[in-house]
Amino acid sequence: MSTKEMIKIHNFSAGPGVLPAEVLKQAAEACINFDNMNLSLLEISHRSKNFEKVMEEARALVKELLGLNDNYKVLFLGSGASLQFAMAPLNLLRTEGTAGYINTGVWASKAIKEAKLIGNTQVIASSEDKKFNYIPKGYEIPSTLDYLHITSNNTIYGTQIKEFPKTSVPLVCDMSSDIFSRKVNGNDFALIYAGAQKNMGPAGTTMVAVDETKLGKTGRKLLSMLDYQVHIKGDSMYNTPPVFPIYVSMLTLKWLKDNGGIPWIEKINQQKADTLYNEIDRNSIFVGTTAKEDRSNMNVTFIMHKPELEPEFDKLWKEANLSGLRGHRDVGGYRASLYNALPLESVNALVEVMQAFEKKMA
Ligand SMILES: *Cc1c(COP(=O)(O)O)cnc(C)c1O
Repeated sequence: MSTKEMIKIHNFSAGPGVLPAEVLKQAAEACINFDNMNLSLLEISHRSKNFEKVMEEARALVKELLGLNDNYKVLFLGSGASLQFAMAPLNLLRTEGTAGYINTGVWASKAIKEAKLIGNTQVIASSEDKKFNYIPKGYEIPSTLDYLHITSNNTIYGTQIKEFPKTSVPLVCDMSSDIFSRKVNGNDFALIYAGAQKNMGPAGTTMVAVDETKLGKTGRKLLSMLDYQVHIKGDSMYNTPPVFPIYVSMLTLKWLKDNGGIPWIEKINQQKADTLYNEIDRNSIFVGTTAKEDRSNMNVTFIMHKPELEPEFDKLWKEANLSGLRGHRDVGGYRASLYNALPLESVNALVEVMQAFEKKMA
């Protein structure tokens, strides 16, 4: 029996984040008896037909859910999104070219740091002046850039790009914490990458979707493992891929598709975010930390007018079986992550605790 069914924990973890209970159950079963082989998924060859089918399906589901044309290739690579901070410039920034970056937080800053080690890098806009509590808008994008790197959702600060820049410059997007949460046109981006552990699966794999026609033009020789073209040629199995994270990601994407895909989850995600932000704005105890028009539907950040009341509030939500609500150490306060697998019911449970706390303090 799944522990998830026995104890109902409302899991607001920012990452690794909540996964659908039925996916966890299937994943657990596959560790014992995968695909009726009487073997564990963890002890068979990644070249077996049974696993090749998993890899093919995972890649196809990404393509379908992002609506990608045939010039896009999907990879599931080892390591985290942080490796893509380097792989993106290595594969797309010409040795004589310049890459543009929008700095919207900790992850964007780390991406900039790596790019600077690789080539000319220009920060086009930044929200650092206000502790990253908004998304910069209205900036000029030089048409000469090799690409513009953006972070669609800022997991730590709780901001989200609602409208992507319109430009002829190829867009590179770190979608780690909001991929598959809302409708985007994947074809608007030259490269999308996302670590699995926020909204797609367990830690250990990173999804890369890249426009193949943009590759091989940098004039730079690459180490094989850092070369998208090598991984594409190997059908995402140049080396042994992280089989288990890929399998669980595939199951999660299948869960998403079978339930109605992006239109289905986008509606629920909007309901969840609206429910919680409405309460934050109504409740006299709490206050949101970000510009309203840039509020993330995935990571909802809020603080208390009187931070000294935090220990008492913490006791209350823990008693109500809520988990993972403490804010990132850089922001403090609270962060409720509302990833795809978190049901509206969990948001309602949080709102009830917030209301009970307000009454108690009255
Ligand atoms: C978590 C996160 C990362 C880092 O992912 P790792 O897999 O730990 O390297 C990068 N970007 C964003 C937006 C994230 O939320």
